[in-house]
Amino acid sequence: MAPIRRKPTRAVRVGAVQIGGGAPIAVQSMAATKTQDIEATARQVQLINAAGADIIRIACDSRKDVEALAEVRARTRDLNDGRGATLSVDLQENYRLSEIVAPHVDKIRYNPGHLHHHEKDKSIRDKVAYIADIAVKHDIALRVGVNCGSVDPEKAAKFGHDDVGAMVESALEHAQMLDDLGFTRYVVSLKDSDWRKVVEGNRRFSSQRPDVPLHLGVTEAGMPPDGIIKTRIAFEQLLAEGIGDTIRVSLTLPFEDKGQEITVGRDLIADIEAGRFRSVPLNFGEGLNIISCPSCSRVENEQFIVLAQDLKKMTEYAKDYRVTIAVMGCRVNGPGETDDADIGLWCGPLGVNLKHGEEVVGHFPYDQVLDQAHALLDRVIRDKGLAPA
Ligand code: SF4
Repeated sequence: MAPIRRKPTRAVRVGAVQIGGGAPIAVQSMAATKTQDIEATARQVQLINAAGADIIRIACDSRKDVEALAEVRARTRDLNDGRGATLSVDLQENYRLSEIVAPHVDKIRYNPGHLHHHEKDKSIRDKVAYIADIAVKHDIALRVGVNCGSVDPEKAAKFGHDDVGAMVESALEHAQMLDDLGFTRYVVSLKDSDWRKVVEGNRRFSSQRPDVPLHLGVTEAGMPPDGIIKTRIAFEQLLAEGIGDTIRVSLTLPFEDKGQEITVGRDLIADIEAGRFRSVPLNFGEGLNIISCPSCSRVENEQFIVLAQDLKKMTEYAKDYRVTIAVMGCRVNGPGETDDADIGLWCGPLGVNLKHGEEVVGHFPYDQVLDQAHALLDRVIRDKGLAPA
């Protein structure tokens, strides 16, 4: 087995882990539980760490989340012979939490598309400078995490349907901002649920900024095996070209099985190193496409995972029809991330919102929504006059 020949990127230290600079590809995952459920989140860190994770991410969206994260950090200090787990935080929408979260983590991920939510009078450059300053003070790294589905509104307006163009320009702009600030301890990610956009976005970014380490991932890839296949296609293309310094496989799984994201990631790297590329059926992705989020701190109800699994079973009869169904775990990303799907389901605490494209069909209890989704799927197939792919 030979290591993958990688494009030379600069080394970025994240706690005890090095990303880029010729280091082995780091494999990471994210806690799927509510961060404030300290017991469950500490358990996620333990089991993801036991699966061999290099870095584990936790989401924080409030001061209470940060307090819980500090406690999770304390409870997992004994892992890895007392070094603790290498932790990263996902800031979601509130970049101002950087200051209080930084003492408890090794890396902060911010999403350029979410910086406009707070302090609208302050420039994006000033906000980035604030985050970078905190990273320097606390000796931690940053990730500029751009998502096709949530690019900043200015870029979305400028690029229209070219969402990959918007994503790449946003990533380049933030990399330049950090460089101008003299801060180079950062990695970049360009993600989407469509593996084609992930491949194109990362290729384009890497051709312009080959020095910046890249974190690869296909968001909302869904459940195994399709979620693994989508991820594999993207990673086989990119890693084989030497693009990618750290990976996250994002799968909808029961919380207790989250370690699978790490084992799948390691298997995938081992296969590529050994030249074992999987052939993908020519019609893969041409029939029913279920996009589902991997769950995180924001998940409204744990029944989301079971719902996604049951939906997969229920839609088996329509697997050859070109229909996209998106299943999301929360109200924050649910409404937006389901807009482009034919059928969308996003979860609330007690019920599920069902959508037909951008139109809201209704809000249904968890035990009734599948029947409604079934009827809607029949209608979509009929109205579109679809024939099996
Ligand atoms: S849709 Fe919501 S619950 Fe799912 S991963 Fe995204 S933020 Fe987390």
